[in-house]
Amino acid sequence: MAFRPALRPGAPLLRRDATHLQIGTSPGIVIADRPGLGALLRLLDGVRDTERLQQLVARDVPELHADVASTLAELRAVGAVVDADAAEAVRRRFDRRRVGFVVTPGAAGLVATTRAALVSAGLHDLTSSDPELLVIVSHGEVERSVYELASTRGLDHLPVVVDEDRVRIGPLVRPGRTPCVTCHDLHRADWDPAWTAIVPQLGSRPPLVRPAALDGLALHAAAVEVAAEVVALLDDDTLRTAGHCLVVGPRHDDRASWPVAFHHRCACDLLTAA
Ligand SMILES: [Zn+2]
Repeated sequence: MAFRPALRPGAPLLRRDATHLQIGTSPGIVIADRPGLGALLRLLDGVRDTERLQQLVARDVPELHADVASTLAELRAVGAVVDADAAEAVRRRFDRRRVGFVVTPGAAGLVATTRAALVSAGLHDLTSSDPELLVIVSHGEVERSVYELASTRGLDHLPVVVDEDRVRIGPLVRPGRTPCVTCHDLHRADWDPAWTAIVPQLGSRPPLVRPAALDGLALHAAAVEVAAEVVALLDDDTLRTAGHCLVVGPRHDDRASWPVAFHHRCACDLLTAA
């Protein structure tokens, strides 16, 4: 594919002093100026390829004596110039990726904010009936059959629970590969034996939505954390909620995290053997 050079995204071209140019300000890449270099840099629009730029320079920038291709290669090596096609491919890497949501009453605000964050990250298919990841967002703990169904289907799923004034994210379940919600419940029952009696009641009496206990900024912070986990899963990146729960709130910058291991009484780790 042709190299279509563009200046480093978001970085302005500046004059530093009589003999140097600077690209960007964080902190900026300094390059030695030479006749015609500024004019060449101003021709880079991410659309013209090297050959077209050579033609334009030959016509309009006679003062540039250096070879266009090797000048651009030099600038690319120091990060002042990038390949626009490659940058665009990175930006569009989620075009065909599929995410689904299960939403219980009262959780719509968190879901809308999470979806907006995912759209900003380049995801478009957020209502897939055949998702790569199902995000299960509930206001209060939800009945366990929702998670069990996803596990039975072998579907990766991320529980997100608005729990009073905070949001619990995880454990992210990759059935048979990471600890599941039943593991989580069994660990809780180990220190709180009544949990076994409580679990069957979950979801049957959803909490009242008003007054909302969750602070608006904490809701946005939680949405970003959920979106970041979705992106990490699609990018095969490190997952903070696989084998862990991450809690956001009550303040927007409050975070708590704890590990969730496979529980010896849960058979979910046998799923892959089946
Ligand atoms: Zn399990």
